[in-house]
Parts: sequence; structure tokens; C-alpha cells
Amino acid sequence: MNEALMQLSHTPVDKVTIAGFDVFVKRDDQLHPAFSGNKARKFAYFLAQPFTQVNKLVGYGSPQANSLYSMAALAKMRGWQLDFYVDHIAEQILKQPAGNYAAAIAHGANVIDLSQQDDRNDLSTRGYIERHVAGDDTVLYVPEGGRCEYAEYGLFQLAREIVDWKQQQQLSQLNVFLPSGTGTTALFLTRSFAQLDESIKVLTCAVVGGDDYLTSQFYELSSDCNDHPQIITPPKRYHFGKLYREFYQHWLELNQSGIEFELLYDPLGWMMCKQYLQQSSDEPMLYLHQGGLLGNETMLPRYKRKFDGN
Ligand SMILES: *Cc1c(COP(=O)(O)O)cnc(C)c1O
Repeated sequence: MNEALMQLSHTPVDKVTIAGFDVFVKRDDQLHPAFSGNKARKFAYFLAQPFTQVNKLVGYGSPQANSLYSMAALAKMRGWQLDFYVDHIAEQILKQPAGNYAAAIAHGANVIDLSQQDDRNDLSTRGYIERHVAGDDTVLYVPEGGRCEYAEYGLFQLAREIVDWKQQQQLSQLNVFLPSGTGTTALFLTRSFAQLDESIKVLTCAVVGGDDYLTSQFYELSSDCNDHPQIITPPKRYHFGKLYREFYQHWLELNQSGIEFELLYDPLGWMMCKQYLQQSSDEPMLYLHQGGLLGNETMLPRYKRKFDGN
């Protein structure tokens, strides 16, 4: 892979009409497919800096995580080995590798199943890495989902692109909506806009855990409440990774815009974006498409089995 030939920033903005509202979409799904979406922005720092001592990248999380695939791509580009630790791997994934897991393995990722490791001693995945793996100069350790200060580098670049676009469009105000997992992206965007253009407001919703969990994640990254984006609360609690009929219906409706969205974060993201627009649609809205489409390879068959009966 030649980094110079890859598009890693400056994605276009499209306009769609969803449920009668005009919404701009920042197409970070169009970053280069090998290093795509949200994780490419968060990991941009690791591509830009020399890290001359490093020969191994270490991460952990779910074996279907977007971050597994992005880290595998990053490691390949940098000529590093990737060791990715998981709590366990479901039988189904091993029997029929697909999506992020299969793509990461194809890039040479070494996925380590801790349930098969003799020296685990009840340690959590993170605990195991901190005890046995991290702390060596040759190892670059990235916490789950890229939740760390390094992420600010690439997200500041993303904020700058949005500010430039807003100026070109001659908009006096703008709301930016994105669904959150760890909240790292939403928080660093909020902080960047506070520096670059205070008329841009960041709105988000908690897809992983509830609002309390997301708020506690914000505090882990910054104790300054000015850095915290506004959270839009759904009318009921949804559990991460579970399949809901209204999510599927929203996703199908979104597809009619001509843009494919992903199935883990975007259904709730759009539902909450719509909920917000129904209450206040005066300011223009930009929805951040954070990529992750490879995950649809495994999510869509699950939805189809559950709601279409095939
Ligand atoms: C990782 C990811 C998120 C969550 O990003 P956070 O910074 O953890 O909030 C959202 N959408 C997609 C597609 C992702 O891959």
C-alpha cells in the first residue's frame, strides 16, 4: 500500500433529504477503504509520526471491531506486526470468517484469544496487556477504540475541513451530529471547534452504554465541561449490538438517500438526529458518516435473518 496514493483526509460533503429534512453528510466513509472512517481519523497520528523504535502494534477489543481492521491496515502500512487481544472468539467467526475479522486476518493480523491463554489468571483483556505486553519501547499500545489523546491530531484535521467547508458555503452557524461509542471523536471535535469556530455545535448520542456511561467517558478524556458535546437522549434504552426493528427500518430508509450507512451506530444516530431536527431545525445540520461499512457484511445477514426471515 502506498500511503501517498491513499485518500486519508479531505472527504466531500453531500446533501440528502431524510424524513423531509435537508441534511449535509460529511463522507468520511470515502476515506481510503483500507484505512477508513472514524478509526482512520483517530489513528492518523500513528501514520504521521516516525515511531522509529516500534515494530509491533498492540490493541484489544471485539473480534468484529472496526478498530481491529483499521489497526491491521495501519500495521501493514507501517510494516509492524499487529497483536490484537480478544476476550474470546465465537465459534461462528472461526468457522466462517467475514467482515472486519476476515479482512484483518487477510492483512496479517495476529488475533490472540485470551480464553485459550494459560497465563491469563482471571485478568481482563486490558489487565493482561498491561501486565504482560505493554511497557516495551518496541511496542505501540493503543487502548480500546483508540480512546486516547493521540486521537486529537486527526480529529483536529477533520474539524478544520468542516470549518473550511462551512466558510465556502457561507453558513453563519452549523450543528454537527455524530453517534458516539467511547465519545472520543465527539469530544475532540467539540474542543477543536471551540478553537476554530465557536458557531459550530457538536451533538451526539450514546450508542454504547447510556448517557451516564458516555458522560463518564467524556470526563476520562477531559474534566473541562466546555469540551463535552451535547448528548441527545433516546426515548428508550437500546443495547449495543442488539437488533431492533426500528433500527433496520431506519437503515432501509436511509439507503434511499443513495448513501449506504452502517448498522451498528448509524440507525440510532439518525433517529436522534431526526428527533433533534423535529424540535429545532433552524440551523443547518451536518451528519458525520464515520465509515464502518465492512461491519455490514456481518450485521446485515443477522438483520435479514431476524426481520426478513431469510
Ligand atoms: C469507532 C466508531 C464509532 C465510535 O467512535 P467513538 O470515538 O468511540 O465515539 C462510531 N462509528 C463508527 C463507524 C466507528 O467505527
